[in-house]
Amino acid sequence: MLLFSSRQTFAQFTSGGQLKREQEIMDIRHYTIALDVNISEHFISGYATIDFNLLQPTHVLLFDLLDSFHIKSITVNNKKQSFNYKNNLITINLANELPAGKAAVTVVYEGKPHTAVRPPWDDGFTWTKDSLGNPWVAVTAEASGGKLFFPCKDHPSDEPNEGAELIITVPKGLVVAGPGLLKKTTTKKDKATYDWNTNYTINNYSILFNIGKYKVVSRDYTTVNGNKVPMQFYVLEEHADKAEHHLDVLEQFVRVREKYFGEYPWAKEKIGIVETPHLGMEHQTMNAYGNQFRYTKIGGKDYDWLMNHEFGHEWWGNKVTVKDWADYWIHEGIGSFGDALYVRDMEGEDAYINFFKQRAFFENKKPIVQGKDLDEESAYIGDIYSKGSFFMHTLRFVIGDSIFFPTLKQFVTSANFTYDNFVTTGDVEQFFSKNSGIDLQPLFNLFLRTTNRLEIHVQRAPKDTFEIKLDNLEMTIPLQITTDKGTQTIMVGKKPISVASTSLPIVDPNMYYFERIVIE
Ligand SMILES: [Zn+2]
Repeated sequence: MLLFSSRQTFAQFTSGGQLKREQEIMDIRHYTIALDVNISEHFISGYATIDFNLLQPTHVLLFDLLDSFHIKSITVNNKKQSFNYKNNLITINLANELPAGKAAVTVVYEGKPHTAVRPPWDDGFTWTKDSLGNPWVAVTAEASGGKLFFPCKDHPSDEPNEGAELIITVPKGLVVAGPGLLKKTTTKKDKATYDWNTNYTINNYSILFNIGKYKVVSRDYTTVNGNKVPMQFYVLEEHADKAEHHLDVLEQFVRVREKYFGEYPWAKEKIGIVETPHLGMEHQTMNAYGNQFRYTKIGGKDYDWLMNHEFGHEWWGNKVTVKDWADYWIHEGIGSFGDALYVRDMEGEDAYINFFKQRAFFENKKPIVQGKDLDEESAYIGDIYSKGSFFMHTLRFVIGDSIFFPTLKQFVTSANFTYDNFVTTGDVEQFFSKNSGIDLQPLFNLFLRTTNRLEIHVQRAPKDTFEIKLDNLEMTIPLQITTDKGTQTIMVGKKPISVASTSLPIVDPNMYYFERIVIE
């Protein structure tokens, strides 16, 4: 998602938090969602089938679904079951104990989904028209979670390992854009059905669709590993003439991301974007794009900050996913650090340093990692972007490029931290500590788990010398110090080091740390 610090959310539209006991026993394998979308009535109807592995026998199953719908029936392994549906929860009281093992629940439902207040932050359905008067429907759900419109286990720690299928029926003439690959399109009377299928594990907030009078502009992209992937832009017909150039811009973004983070993660399916009435969102293999082709320049080439940022989430957020929103900064902070690496790649190291100098201002009211079992709303603070990406900038300086860049790439390409496996801040901390041979816990604690600044103490000493030490970090770190003799990098810890200078030294001139400098 893109940064918006003054967003308003409503408690019932948040996902994650403490995992419910009745949901811990389910491992979701697959979602099938088949819906007829009545655009003039803002109404959806159909069914969802949830395939899961039950880890232990149970009498009760629990799923999340906003309670604005009417549920017509629920079957568990094809047997009708009774249920309660209130407070955005479906409780299925099973007639007989359901044994451990594979199970399938089908919910037949209909109703008016929640209308988005301010997408992509305040989620829901957006029902609008393009400038030619054609219907245009968008869905966003990162904050609300999938329960916005389909029954699910709405927690970041469980993605359907075998993917999802979206079978969406719309008035003929309109096009549905969805995740994965378009298996087939069928038409019946005045309706068209689009069957989208992804075999990859996918977060709930990427299991959604957009509807519009789209033209599909495609080309092939060859990944850094030599795989051919279709690159598709579902662009409004009225903007079709802009699509080829926009794909050129996108291609450049994907190339730079691949350089730092490895192959595009969904190479067996597609690189997708779809034009939306809201600004944008990182929907896996079908990124929402609504920045209206407003380019600036980086490295002399057209640059679209929105598209660059959202595509970064294909690696950080979609491929690498946190199991608890408490670690949201891994999506937004490391994702935004990738935006800075794009600047570095296109314009060089000085431009990269300036990028961070201009962004070293944080709200700093709460730590980036506020604890455990957080819901999306509580975890979403502006600092997960700004301070989170700045932390990666700090980490790079502390451990040095020869370790930092390979470690970052290893993390995002390691099976342990990607696809079916979820991550925590502790995983990042331990992986970087192991690869660098430095215990980085004090650094992670200071900058991620507190709001404290690094305190650097500079004290005048006799004979044109200054003593420099750290006050609140239990490790030694490199510090750039500029004196009348130039800039040098010195290892500094709690024990004072002596620096000779006729003038007051300038500490950390390039701003690698979020700090407070005390001069005595
Ligand atoms: Zn984002």
